[in-house]
Amino acid sequence: MGRPLRIAIDGPAASGKSTLAQRLAAYLGYAYIDTGVMYRAVTWAALQRGIPVTDENALTRLAETLDLDILPPTEADGRPYTVLVEGVDITWALRSPEVDAAVSQVSAYPGVRRALTQRQRQIGLRGRVVMVGRDIGTVVLPEADFKLYLDADLKTRAWRRYRELQDRGEAVSFEEVLETMRQRDALDQGREVAPLRPAPDAVVLDTTAMDIEEVFQRVLALMEARCRETPHVAG
Ligand code: C5P
Repeated sequence: MGRPLRIAIDGPAASGKSTLAQRLAAYLGYAYIDTGVMYRAVTWAALQRGIPVTDENALTRLAETLDLDILPPTEADGRPYTVLVEGVDITWALRSPEVDAAVSQVSAYPGVRRALTQRQRQIGLRGRVVMVGRDIGTVVLPEADFKLYLDADLKTRAWRRYRELQDRGEAVSFEEVLETMRQRDALDQGREVAPLRPAPDAVVLDTTAMDIEEVFQRVLALMEARCRETPHVAG
């Protein structure tokens, strides 16, 4: 069977993208690239340095110059990768409620997107990647051989995220998680540059009532079917 060389997975927060992408990448022997990490790292650095999330110019400069490294995991604590900013390990700090609340405002700025999209495209064009985000199929890698858009209803997604935060000991209520997610969805879908939406040629899958195993099996079947239709993809 042929296999897509570049796989693009988009969708809103907690729709199951990252878990699926990690499994697919491990199964195929591909690199897993989570582009949300880059927007989160810029947001985290801005919060640390006291740069207001309204200062588009300063945030753009930060995105253009930030010393950011994404490496294979350096600790066996369940992390899928290690993120370093200026050599400091910020892998878990990126998932804080403060970053969650600010990241969509930062990621809406065209200058920030230009800088990070360029970095992402360079990585994606190498091939053998499963790349995850909001605009991979539409903007970062429009030439991807297999595009998937995962969705799930808001309450289900908020519940998934709430449980993750609880497991990490973050003191946050379900209502706060739900509200942050609602606002993040609205900003990501409503922004002018690269809004969250399925690419015209993406397969759309609603994961509300599915567990990860079902999603994985379903996506493998969809991928095989797509490869039979377009036999030019690499074997
Ligand atoms: O995927 P994750 O929830 O970590 O992404 C955090 C935020 O980064 C998203 O809510 C969105 O604002 C932004 N993002 C983006 N484009 C991407 C990936 C993430 O705008 N390709």
